Parts: sequence; C-alpha cells; structure tokens
Amino acid sequence: MAAKIDVGVIGATGMVGQQFIARLANHPWFNVRWLAASERSEGKAYADAAPWRLATPMPEAVRAMTVHACVPGRGPQVVFSALDAKAADELEAPFASAGHIVLSNARSFRMDPLVPLLIPEVNADHLGLLPEQRATHGWPGAIVTNPNCATIVLAMALAPLRIFGISRVLVTTMQAVSGAGYPGVASLDILGNLVPFIGGGEEEKIETETLKILGADGGRSPLTATISAQVNRVPVIDGHTMTVSAELSSRPDIASVTEAMRSFRGQPQELGLPTAPDPPIVVMTESNRPQPRLDAGVGDGMTVTVGRIRACPVLSHKFVALGHNTIRGAAGASVLNAELMHAQGLLA
Ligand code: NAP
Repeated sequence: MAAKIDVGVIGATGMVGQQFIARLANHPWFNVRWLAASERSEGKAYADAAPWRLATPMPEAVRAMTVHACVPGRGPQVVFSALDAKAADELEAPFASAGHIVLSNARSFRMDPLVPLLIPEVNADHLGLLPEQRATHGWPGAIVTNPNCATIVLAMALAPLRIFGISRVLVTTMQAVSGAGYPGVASLDILGNLVPFIGGGEEEKIETETLKILGADGGRSPLTATISAQVNRVPVIDGHTMTVSAELSSRPDIASVTEAMRSFRGQPQELGLPTAPDPPIVVMTESNRPQPRLDAGVGDGMTVTVGRIRACPVLSHKFVALGHNTIRGAAGASVLNAELMHAQGLLA
C-alpha cells in the first residue's frame, strides 16, 4: 500500500478547521501532521485551543498535537486552509510562494483568473490553469479554491442543466448559522427569526462564482447567463437550502430535467475517489423534501439533494436544493479537491 501523504491544516481551530480534522482523521490517502492557527492558539495543545463543536468526538490523534503559528515553509507541502478571510488574504499567497499546495476555503483567491474554483464533478478541467498560475505568479506551490458554501449547492444543481442552455437564474437561499463560523450570529438575532442579509458580499459571490465554475477555459470565459441571488440567515444549524428558478433555453420537460440531475456523474465517481458521493445529486420525490435536518447529512454530507422539480410560470423550471455547508460547502469540498489532484498526480 502506498504511503499516506502528510498534510497540514491552517485555521485548524475554527468551524471549518474542525471539519477538516474530522474528515481527515481516517483518510486512506492523507495524514494530518501539522496544525496552525492564530497567535491566540499558538503553542497550545489542539484540545485546548479548539472549542470542539462537532457532534462526533475530537479524533484522539490530534488532541495533543501542538498548534503552530501560520508560518509558510514550516508544515507539509499540502496544506488545507480554513483561515478566516482576512488572514487568508495575507497568508495564502506566501504559503504558495513557499512551495505549499494550498487547498483553500476562503474567498481571497476564488475569482483570480488563474486559480481554479473547483468542484471536481463539475469543472475538473479547470485544474489545467495550474501551470500558468505557477508561471505567472512565480509560485513553486499552488492555490486551488472551493466555492462559497451556498454557491457550491447552486452550481452542482445547475451543472447537469447546462445541456439545456441556462440563460437566467433566480435563487433565494436559507442559510444555516454554522456558515457564519463560531460564535457567529447572536442567538437573540436569529432564534425565532430570519435575517435577510449576509455580509461579506454573499449575494455577489453566488452570482459571480457560479458563472466562473460553469464557464469554459478554466472559468476565464464565464457562463453567459444572468444570476440574481437573495440570501437569508435562518435558525438552522447545518445545511443551506435554496429555492431556484431557472430559464432553460431548450424548454425540456420535467422528466428530462429530473433524469439529467439523477444521471449526473463526474470524475470523482468515475475514479472512485474515497469521499466522492455516488450519486453526487439525489433527487427526492417527496413533496416536502429536502429539509436540512433530515437531508443535509446524505452521502456523509457530500451529496446535494434536490426536490420539487416543477414548471416555473416566470422562468421555465423551479426546484429546491440543499447541501451541507461545512462539509460539501467547505472542508469536504477541499478534501475531494485534494483527492482529485492526487489521482491526477498533481500532489507530487
Ligand atoms: P472561524 O470559525 O472563525 O475560524 C477561523 C480560523 O482562522 C481559526 O482557526 C482562527 O484561529 C484562524 N485565524 C484567524 N485569524 C488568523 C490569523 N491572523 N492567523 C492565523 N490564523 C487565523 O471561521 P470558519 O467558519 O471556520 O471559516 C473559515 C474559512 O472558511 C473562512 O474563510 C470562511 O469564509 C470559509 N468558509 C466557511 C464556511 C462555513 O460554512 N462556516 C463555508 C465555506 C467557507 P484561532 O482559533 O486561533 O483564532
């Protein structure tokens, strides 16, 4: 059996960092060897630095590991980044410059035209940007990003519909509180309530990232469609739900749209990557599904569930989509990106 690849996690103590630790604990290809976070955590044992919030126990192997400062060049070559956006702005490029392959969750480099904004099932070919990225930025390492946690659900649900010609999309999200990190939204703001705004340019991210992901030439030719997003924070712990209306130019019947989503597969499924869900999209037939409490965990949190596919009298089709925001929308997405890169010989 081939030796496992040593990996590090920067931003290891936060919400997404904890999901990395959980998802990498028994990974068949990767071995967590190095943890880093802010000065607040530096020098502490991981169990003392990370306020563990997951329903599964903290893996024994990391409890006593020391949390280091985020200094480029010190950890393994492959580094998963769950850094806070401001820290990622400052640190991810120096890590790539020091030779690390950075698999990032942060928004900092997602829209860089030379950085793949990757969903392995949807745009695996965007990894073809890496030689030009290295040559242009002069990085011996690389940065590969995964999308915003709501974008990934929308882009996965739309990907099978590209064959019908997507021209306009309206999406309204209902996003879980875990998407804001910890402690996130104050309980008095969200309990029994809904907040019709998420800061940090959430709506713009959904609109622009989706077009890059579904675009050609590594995303440098974005999909020529118009997307309008409206976002809401709702009192749900995990799982971003969204209602989507899409105008599909060829006006397929509902059965064809359903079949396109059901039969959708990508490289992760063809290659049998360790954490690839199969199928990546589950179409539910119950009239009241998907629901975050019941369905966010489908496929170990890696599946996008879709339901209520029906005609839209304004555009042409509408449906509901749901994905787990800290798994498929964050750590799980990065781990799948790394698996695809390893399968393609890009982590050597
Ligand atoms: P979080 O809980 O606030 O965690 C932030 C992490 O960054 C912590 O480990 C923190 O370390 C570290 N950090 C902060 N400032 C730092 C600095 N100056 N130097 C080094 N480390 C620093 O945030 P999160 O929810 O896990 O999100 C992490 C990233 O993933 C963000 O960029 C976010 O936008 C993105 N993301 C989140 C979700 C989600 O659903 N939550 C989904 C997709 C993407 P300390 O503990 O030591 O302060």
